[in-house]
Amino acid sequence: MSIKIPDFNNTKYAFQYKDNKALANTKFVFGLFNYPWLVKVLTTSADLVLKYRLPGKAIIKQTVFKVFCAGENLDQAFNTIRLLSKYHVKAVLDYVSESESSDAGYAENTKRIKANVINLSKEFPGHYVSIKLAGLENYHFLKKLSEPNYQKTNEEETRFNQLMSRVDEICAAAFEHNICIYFDAEERCTQDIYDYIVERMMEKYNKQKAVIYNTLQMYLTDRVAYLERVIKESKEKQYYAGIKIVRGAYLEKENKRAADAGKVSPVFQTKPGTDKSFDTAIDLCLANISHVYLCIASHNENSIMHAIKEVNRLNIIDGKQKVSFSQLLGMSDNLTFNLAEAGLEVSKYLPYGEVEKAIPYLIRRADENKSVDGQMGRELRLLTSEIKRRKSNA
Ligand SMILES: Cc1cc2nc3c(=O)[nH]c(=O)nc-3n(C[C@H](O)[C@H](O)[C@H](O)COP(=O)(O)OP(=O)(O)OC[C@H]3O[C@@H](n4cnc5c(N)ncnc54)[C@H](O)[C@@H]3O)c2cc1C
Repeated sequence: MSIKIPDFNNTKYAFQYKDNKALANTKFVFGLFNYPWLVKVLTTSADLVLKYRLPGKAIIKQTVFKVFCAGENLDQAFNTIRLLSKYHVKAVLDYVSESESSDAGYAENTKRIKANVINLSKEFPGHYVSIKLAGLENYHFLKKLSEPNYQKTNEEETRFNQLMSRVDEICAAAFEHNICIYFDAEERCTQDIYDYIVERMMEKYNKQKAVIYNTLQMYLTDRVAYLERVIKESKEKQYYAGIKIVRGAYLEKENKRAADAGKVSPVFQTKPGTDKSFDTAIDLCLANISHVYLCIASHNENSIMHAIKEVNRLNIIDGKQKVSFSQLLGMSDNLTFNLAEAGLEVSKYLPYGEVEKAIPYLIRRADENKSVDGQMGRELRLLTSEIKRRKSNA
């Protein structure tokens, strides 16, 4: 049976999980993003407010944090998951810990993620947990391990084995408790070691279905070739490749790092270049769907429509099990909830944690959503339209 084509303009379904107050708050936040200078002032002051403990945390908590984060603790995050579940939207539980930098912190994160896997499975089997490897090990160490032909010292070998054990402990818990793991992608300079680690976990735990997913940033010029290699190896070694594709969140940083080092940038230099690479990855995964589970993590309507049409055209019978979609909390609800309404597997990334730790994440969301040309953004248009619709129906 073919997949129903969703109507992404249906704002009634899109915002059904928000009451009028939550809708007004979301509109207020996206309204601020319409002024790029204000975004600059706010993102700079957010850092200062928390660094110097200035008053203002409560404002951040009641506005941007409320829109983009699922809560300050697990109980609050679970309330958000319960709400989304009513509309058949799954959760990707994502503890915000981007700035971790101590051994004790890495150990604590490992314990927390494993506990999250187990707790989530009790109420929400089949949902997801995301992991950033830089939250489990030192960034500079990961970077060193990603250098081509790097020879580890004995001490580094021991340290690396400890990391593998920590990662394995989490993946084993996910396998046992029916939770899937998304390993997030970060900077290109650490990606080679991420790929190595995640591939070993896929080999071990993806024999019957994909439990473990690697993230491929399709703005990287080498990722289509990488995808081809992983699919080939998954066939040879007889496991399912779990592939989550994104466009990539560190464009400026990658370009700057390459320019500073006098090297060619690892990312495409045009948006159409990235778009083509993203859609090529969809096509490759669908052509090999007997060995692949694909998650399309994107807010791009064209790519999502492309995937749905291709699943129908290729008559992929288990398309609803093997192809899923994911968006970030607070963004593109018109995609998430209309995909769910069409009966597709769809999830929301739910970052949760202390407001202080969420600041880098919130700054990225503000930057991503700021208006570049003073035009009303897509989110703001949809929110305005839903508020009008509710008023006219009242
Ligand atoms: C559920 C989910 C999980 C995510 N997980 C990760 C993750 O693990 N790692 C990660 O890095 N990101 C992650 N992201 C963010 C993602 O990489 C994108 O930054 C974001 O989703 C915007 O891309 P898009 O496909 O939604 O849509 P679009 O708005 O169509 O694309 C914007 C993206 O296109 C690319 N782009 C823009 N201009 C140019 C240009 N001039 N040249 C080349 N490329 C350009 C950039 O990647 C930019 O982010 C995630 C996003 C989602 C929705």
